[in-house]
Amino acid sequence: MAPRHHEAIIVGAGFAGIGAAIQLKRMGIEDFVILEREDDLGGTWYVNHYPGLAVDVPTTTYSYFFEPNPNWSRLFSTGTEIKQYADDVADKYDVRRHIRFNTDVEGAHWDEEAALWRVALGGGQQLSTRFLFTATGFLSQPHTPDIPGIGDFEGTVVHTTDWADDFVADGRRIAIIGTGATAVQLIPELARTAADLTVYQRTPIWVVPKVDLKFGPRIRTLFDRIPLTQRAVRAVTDAIYAFMVDTAVLKHRYFRRFNIAAADLAKLHRFASIRDPELRRKLTPDYDFGCKRPTFSNSYYRTFTKPHVHLQADGIERVEPDGIVNADGSKTVIDTLVLATGFDLWEANFPAIEVIGREGRNLGKWWRETRFQAYQGVSMPYFPNYLSLASPYAFLGLNFFNTMEYQMHLMDRLFGEVRRRNATTFEVTEQANARYLDRMTEALGDSLFTLGNCASARSYYFNPAGEATLLRPMTTRRAVTEASQFPLSDYTFA
Ligand code: NAP
Repeated sequence: MAPRHHEAIIVGAGFAGIGAAIQLKRMGIEDFVILEREDDLGGTWYVNHYPGLAVDVPTTTYSYFFEPNPNWSRLFSTGTEIKQYADDVADKYDVRRHIRFNTDVEGAHWDEEAALWRVALGGGQQLSTRFLFTATGFLSQPHTPDIPGIGDFEGTVVHTTDWADDFVADGRRIAIIGTGATAVQLIPELARTAADLTVYQRTPIWVVPKVDLKFGPRIRTLFDRIPLTQRAVRAVTDAIYAFMVDTAVLKHRYFRRFNIAAADLAKLHRFASIRDPELRRKLTPDYDFGCKRPTFSNSYYRTFTKPHVHLQADGIERVEPDGIVNADGSKTVIDTLVLATGFDLWEANFPAIEVIGREGRNLGKWWRETRFQAYQGVSMPYFPNYLSLASPYAFLGLNFFNTMEYQMHLMDRLFGEVRRRNATTFEVTEQANARYLDRMTEALGDSLFTLGNCASARSYYFNPAGEATLLRPMTTRRAVTEASQFPLSDYTFA
């Protein structure tokens, strides 16, 4: 039987996959399927539902530019509301019927003769498609630490991406490993009812206060009746977030004062929350603010002042069936081990599936043997008719929806040209890709990542070769302009 064929295949039904689907529909392509390994849509906002989950970008900004949501109940909305937003958008744009849930994609290879992508699914099924999109997110492959003895632990082990909604912390003796953005939200929640909580910190994180606001019924009605009002609030929240990244981080050479001011704010926050200088010292990062994504919380620091909450910053020697032996030789007896250990970004996610392009070029190998690179954060030479939405130099600022905005504009321009020429394939040229990589490398020269003290941050912004190739070093406006106006000669069309 011939493999089932679609005009386009999108891998992943998170916000990137939904956005790509909406853009395909706008371009008149209805024959597409979204392949999703989970049993529901929403990507990270479906997978993550640990207590305390909320977005750390104001939700006026954390939404599609074309789809403001008047229903947000607060400035920093909860995970549940964001998942609901994903559902609402998918339904409004009739995306859901295109999704095949519980479908693992193993890999895709370019069939040169047929000028098609052959997509292999778990279970042996094959599909074919003319256009392939991977919308697999940046933080989608959970990281489980390889700590000696962890497999022998006899209590409950839970990774934050696999949270059981009926988990009750009451009375438990819990250890949590990790102090990233997830842990910063989860730790205060666990501390509420746990009998004992030990936090294993390898690298302290910068934490600044969170200025949150409730959107009461009147504001929500206003947003609903006069959408311009919400757009005005968005303009402000967009500007604040863009300013933070575009100056202090990306133009660090000229604006390092802003960075120092942010670090001072975090210092003040620590000072106001914790009396014990030794505890404050242990929670103080020794790398620059911004090397790693900073976090926002009003309760994280104060949680460590509770008598039943302990900070263990000396390291882990091994895990035993009933507890953790610490590097200082002491043992913490626990019944529950929470892994807030984040994601494998560079190892498992670039790319998330095996992708083999023209002349057998293996994307993952090529990135590792040369450098991590992607023209406009989406295209690579030797990979025709393929857009990799989670690529090196794709992520814009602190807000994923900015990334989606320029990627949708890029799709519009690129596919418009394919149609105009009645072409079968498009492919970025090696020269355009090389020029783009040089430009990104040069732009990063002004950034905190090059000029700052980031060595001890263990930040996922840096790839294993030590290059900060995750963020696209430019403003959203610039990225959208480029995506809408790039020279069409940067691609070949056949
Ligand atoms: P993360 O930032 O990568 O943090 C993982 C934590 O686990 C780090 O503290 C890491 O320590 C620790 N860890 C990993 N392996 C370890 C080991 N073998 N031994 C000891 N410690 C270990 O992951 P995350 O907290 O899940 O957050 C990831 C990203 O998700 C965030 O940066 C943010 O972009 C996003 N996020 C957003 C929100 C939101 O919008 N509200 C919420 C949660 C997450 P090291 O630092 O030493 O490696």
